Amino acid sequence: MLPRRVWDYIRSLGAGDAPYSEIRGWRFEYVTPRYRYRPSPSEVAGICPSHRDVYLRRVVGVQPARTQEALYGYYVHEFFLEPFRLVDRGGVGLDELAAGARRLARRLGVRTDRFLESVYTVGAALALQSLVDGDIPVRVEPQLPGAPVGLSDVVKPDLLVGFLPVEVTTAGPHSHYGGAKELQLAGYVLALEAWTGMPVDYGVLLYIRRREPGEPLLDWRVVVVDDALRRRFLRARDEVAMIVDNGVDPGPAEQCPRWCPFRGAPGCPSRS
Ligand code: SF4
Repeated sequence: MLPRRVWDYIRSLGAGDAPYSEIRGWRFEYVTPRYRYRPSPSEVAGICPSHRDVYLRRVVGVQPARTQEALYGYYVHEFFLEPFRLVDRGGVGLDELAAGARRLARRLGVRTDRFLESVYTVGAALALQSLVDGDIPVRVEPQLPGAPVGLSDVVKPDLLVGFLPVEVTTAGPHSHYGGAKELQLAGYVLALEAWTGMPVDYGVLLYIRRREPGEPLLDWRVVVVDDALRRRFLRARDEVAMIVDNGVDPGPAEQCPRWCPFRGAPGCPSRS
């Protein structure tokens, strides 16, 4: 289901100086956590550059506001992945796949628009393509054990294509949140390595953006999960865990995304 150019790019990386990583998921001297709290990869790579989102949620008990932008991003994510879930379940016909968008909209209580419908269609085409390709298994939201690498009991990349974790996001690639998705991939890679004992050197980010007049634009980016990224991930993991374990308020971020759902929470900038 991944575009040919993604595989070609990965092959070209492997043909040259393949990344060599010292820090692997099975190297417990590196990945053993230093704190009791084990965050999820999405908490490590959350929206807040100072991790105050995790502090507010886990220590103070503040729930994020259901802002329009955050909700819409969630809908896009769900409309893209739903066809994969149906195909993964097996025995799904084209009619059932086509009806899946309406069922999902009812379940989410959302009125679909042209963009969401197009995202669903693109997801369905790729999910069917993965059936046709057949040689590389695609799993949707597989449950991987996270505890061996200091993460929550179960971690779930959006997709696993062979041994490549794929994370789907609507955040811009140049935003803090979009960039932090690299860290999230590193978490999945370490969990995969601890689970399988096999080295995994890459992950893929799929940015879904809106192209006028409302069609989705899929931007695939291969992320090399090298030692530098693994170290950054482990540092962020321990920072988040320390905040929760010790109840430390990390203070507001220097730059808060406009649509952060914690705007307006105690100690955070307002929603204006
Ligand atoms: S509003 Fe700013 S400080 Fe508060 S959680 Fe969001 S990004 Fe962090």
